[in-house]
Amino acid sequence: MSVKVCKFGGTSMADGNIIAAIKNIIKSDPERRFIVVSAPGKRYSDDVKITDLLYECHKQLLTNGSCVEAFAPVARRFRDIVAQLGLDFDIGSVLERTRREIEENASEDFTASRGEYLSALIMAQTLGARFVDAHDVIFFKEDGSLDSDKSYKAVSEAVKGAEYAVFPGFYGRGADGNVKTFSRGGSDISGAIVARAVNASLYENWTDVSGFLACDPRIVEGSERIKSLSYKELRELSYMGANVLHSESIFPVRKANIPINIRNTFRPDDEGTLILPTSRYILAGNTVTGIAGRKNFTVIFIEKSLMNSEIGFIRKVLTVVEGEGVPIEHIPSGIDTMSLVIESDALAGNKLERIINGIKSAVEPDVIRVIEDIALIATVGHGMSSSVGTSARLFNAIAAADVNIKMIDQGSSELNIVVGVSNEDYERCIKAIYAEFFKKRV
Ligand code: ASP
Repeated sequence: MSVKVCKFGGTSMADGNIIAAIKNIIKSDPERRFIVVSAPGKRYSDDVKITDLLYECHKQLLTNGSCVEAFAPVARRFRDIVAQLGLDFDIGSVLERTRREIEENASEDFTASRGEYLSALIMAQTLGARFVDAHDVIFFKEDGSLDSDKSYKAVSEAVKGAEYAVFPGFYGRGADGNVKTFSRGGSDISGAIVARAVNASLYENWTDVSGFLACDPRIVEGSERIKSLSYKELRELSYMGANVLHSESIFPVRKANIPINIRNTFRPDDEGTLILPTSRYILAGNTVTGIAGRKNFTVIFIEKSLMNSEIGFIRKVLTVVEGEGVPIEHIPSGIDTMSLVIESDALAGNKLERIINGIKSAVEPDVIRVIEDIALIATVGHGMSSSVGTSARLFNAIAAADVNIKMIDQGSSELNIVVGVSNEDYERCIKAIYAEFFKKRV
């Protein structure tokens, strides 16, 4: 029988009532057998996530040598959850041991990981499932990257013979043997690793939204939900700021062609968004799948006559930027011109000035100009390459909204067109693109 891996995020673990609802979700489908959980998140908007409280514990420990005070709200949250669930489980002594271990261990990663650890213990009790400590099955290499083969093997061994198994997300074992966490939001990655290890038919990622929206609902109210998209489209949209899933979480499952389904714990009947391997993705007739963007980029524009015939020109420019340790996001170019699009934050300090001077002396350009406060907007969709006139529609819509385009980059994948506009035109431009490709569809 095929199996599904379900990852429940922080808001899905926020209190006992929601965890009780999760139990019903899991038990309603016999294929849902392997569960990965985050630490309890916010219950209301100005609540504090358990992981943030734990980072506070670590800070207090460093200054006071103890974290009794900072740990108290953490303990209270978990006690309340166990009481709400009516579990016959001695959470008091587990909490006491955990606090002692935090004080003895004194590592930030260990402290932060305890939210997921306790959350998974409670979930395992709730389901009558096997608890598998991520420290025993998820391994990192010396360089900090995931040791995937070793982890897949250990996870698949650990679930043998178990009807249900629960894993804490967010951490594993570093090369030095100590607990090591992923970056924030990393339980999504843990879920993908477990899905890959057990060769799941589906990786369900349960969160508090019903999937990806075609564009930011803070800009377009009532934005359409994306029913399905490919991994490649997801990559483009999440790079540009559509944040539902941790961006690294697609890699383990993508290689094994396992689809991801984003689901809403609070609206379990909604179908959510299905993320499919490109090979299984069928164009649903939509030209554009989604629109996403980010503000605050800087463009360095360089012009030099006969640039195209000067061998090594681009290399010399890129070497200057590399020397400052600055990543480049896009390089649109013409015959005698090229632009470097860089996130403005990466140029803080006097890096921008050093790069400009470095380029001037490396290639002696005719013109070098800096354009700041640029927003990039990506219009993404596999359908764009096969339908004639998509770029004309896009540019007409932007022009009709009276927005000046400062840069265009169409990746060779023909999966997206990126435009650069002033930060102040960002919202207006997204609204115009949405109206062109989505409102006209109905
Ligand atoms: N609890 C961790 C965080 O807040 C990891 C996660 O939720 O995925 O970042």
